Amino acid sequence: MAIVSTNGNPVAPTGPRTTADVVTPALVARLTRDVIGTGRTSTSTPLTGEPLAELPESSPADVTAAFVRARDAQEDWAATPVAQRAAVLLRFHDLVLKAQEEILDLIQVETGKTRLHAHEEIQGALGTARHYGRRAAAYLKPRRHRGVVPMLTRVVEARRAKGVIGQIVPWNYPLALSVGDAVPAFAAGNAIVTKPDTQTALTVLWARERLVEAGLPRDVWQIVLGDGPVVGSAVIAEADHVTFTGSTATGRLVAKQAADRLVGVSLELGGKNALLVLEDAALDRAAEGAVRACFTSAGQLCESVERLYVHESVADAFLDRFLARTKALSLGSGLGYGAQIGSLAGARQLEAVTRHVDEAVSKGATVLAGGHHRSDVGPYFYEPTVLDGVQPSMAVYGEETFGPVVSVYRFADEGEALALANATPYGLNSSVWSRDTRRVGILAGRLRTGSVNVNEAYAAAYGSVQAPHGGMGDSGLGRRNGAEGILRYTEAQTVATQRLIPLGPSRGMDDASYTALMSRVLGAMKTLRLR
Ligand code: NAD
Repeated sequence: MAIVSTNGNPVAPTGPRTTADVVTPALVARLTRDVIGTGRTSTSTPLTGEPLAELPESSPADVTAAFVRARDAQEDWAATPVAQRAAVLLRFHDLVLKAQEEILDLIQVETGKTRLHAHEEIQGALGTARHYGRRAAAYLKPRRHRGVVPMLTRVVEARRAKGVIGQIVPWNYPLALSVGDAVPAFAAGNAIVTKPDTQTALTVLWARERLVEAGLPRDVWQIVLGDGPVVGSAVIAEADHVTFTGSTATGRLVAKQAADRLVGVSLELGGKNALLVLEDAALDRAAEGAVRACFTSAGQLCESVERLYVHESVADAFLDRFLARTKALSLGSGLGYGAQIGSLAGARQLEAVTRHVDEAVSKGATVLAGGHHRSDVGPYFYEPTVLDGVQPSMAVYGEETFGPVVSVYRFADEGEALALANATPYGLNSSVWSRDTRRVGILAGRLRTGSVNVNEAYAAAYGSVQAPHGGMGDSGLGRRNGAEGILRYTEAQTVATQRLIPLGPSRGMDDASYTALMSRVLGAMKTLRLR
C-alpha cells in the first residue's frame, strides 16, 4: 500500500496494517448476525481490489421478514419517552468517538477514501446524533393552536411517528449518510429498514452495532443487503416513508414507486456543483478551498465542485495557485493518515471518470493538471484533474462525473457568472468566494441551489446541522437536518377538543339564527385581529 505524489514519487512510508487485519471473519460474523439474508454475496476493497468479505444477501421475502420484526418493535419504541430515545443518540455519539480508529479503518477499506476524508464522516454522523439528541424533544413537542372558537376549542398538534422508514444509502458516505438520516427517524419513534450499498455494508452494520450498544432495541434497526432494483425496491414496497440518497436517475424510480403507494419520500440526489471566484476573492484561500471542494473523497462527494467559474481579471492568478496545489496532492492507499487523495470506489466510477476526461480531450479540451489513471497506486486511483476549454457538447460539461475532475471557465461579470452557475437542472451546492460578504448574500438569493457556501467549499453548510440541507431541481426533494430533517418522519395529528357548546345549531336554535350568530362571530374575530 503506497502513498505517492501525483508525479509518482513516494512521499510517506506505508502503514503495517492490511485490509485483512481490519475485516476479519470474526468481525464480519459479529456485524452480520442480525441480517436476514438467505443468500450470499461478496465484496472487495477498492484500495487494492482484494476480496474483503462474504456477506448475507436478502431476498424480497427476507425484506418482508425484516419489516415484520421492525413493525413489532416500533410500537414499544414509539411509546418510549422521547428523552430516553434521545439519550440513546447521545450515548451512541460517545461510543463512536471512543471507537473511531476502528470505524476509520472500516470506512477506508470499504470506500477507498483517505483517513482524513473518512473522519469527515464521523464529524457528519456525530453532528446529527448530538443535534437530535439535544433537540428532538423540542422539535417533537406537542404545540397548542388557536381553536375555531377561541376559549371553547382546545387544539393540540401532535407529532406521531410514521412507523417503519425505508432507507436506501449509497457507497460514498456510508457512515454519515446512514446515521445522519437514521438518527432523527429513531428520535421521532420510528423503526428503520436500511438497504446500504453492499460494498459499504460493514460500515453501516458497525454503526448499527454502536446504536444497539447505546440502547437502541435490536429490532428497531433492520439492515438488509442486496441489489438496488431487487432489495431496494422491496424496501420501498413496504415502507411508511422512504429516505433515499443516490443518483438522480435512481431517485426518479424510487419516487415513482413511492408515489404508487402514496408514501412520502425524501430524495438527496446528484449535482453538478459550481464554485465562483469573484474578482475581490482572497485568492490563496479560494485556491485552498477549491482544492477541497473538487477533490475531497476523490470528488465522490455529492457536494463536490465540478465547475469552477473565475472572474477573468483574476483567472490567471487564481489558476496558478489552484494548479500548484492540485499538482502537489499525494495519492495513497495506506490505512492511516498521510495521503491526500484516495481511490475511486470501483470500476464503475473509474470508467465514468475516464470516459468524461478522454471524451473532452478528444473534442479539444486541455488538461491543466492530472488526467491519468494511476494503477501503480491501486486499481481505481485517478489523478486530480483540471480541464480547460470544455464545451457544452462534452459529457463532462453538464453530466455529474462524481470523480476528481473539474472544468474551469472564465466570466466577465456577475450576471454572466450567475447565468452559467444556474445553467443546470441540478441544484445542490454552490460555493462563492469574495471579500464582500454582503454582496454575496444578495448573489446567494439568485443561485438556485439548496446550499450556498460563502468562502468555504461545502462543509460550512453541510456541517451546520441545525439548518436544513438538500437540493433544488434534479438534486432532490425534501431536506435533511434541522426541523425538516425530523418532522419528515412524523405525521402531524391535530387533536381538537370542543367545550361547552357544539359547533352547530343546538338548544332549539334554528339554522338561520345559528348562521347569523356565526357570521357575527367571524366578523368579531377579524375585528379583534385574531389570527
Ligand atoms: P445509485 O443511485 O446507483 O445507488 C444508490 C442506492 O440505491 C444504492 O444503495 C443502490 O443499491 C440503490 N438502488 C439502485 N437501484 C435502485 C432501485 N431501482 N430501487 C431502489 N434502490 C436502488 O447511486 P450511487 O452511484 O450508489 O451513489 C452516487 C450518487 O449518489 C451520485 O449521483 C451522488 O451525487 C449521489 N449522492 C447524493 C447525496 C446527497 O446528499 N444529495 C449524497 C451522496 C450521494
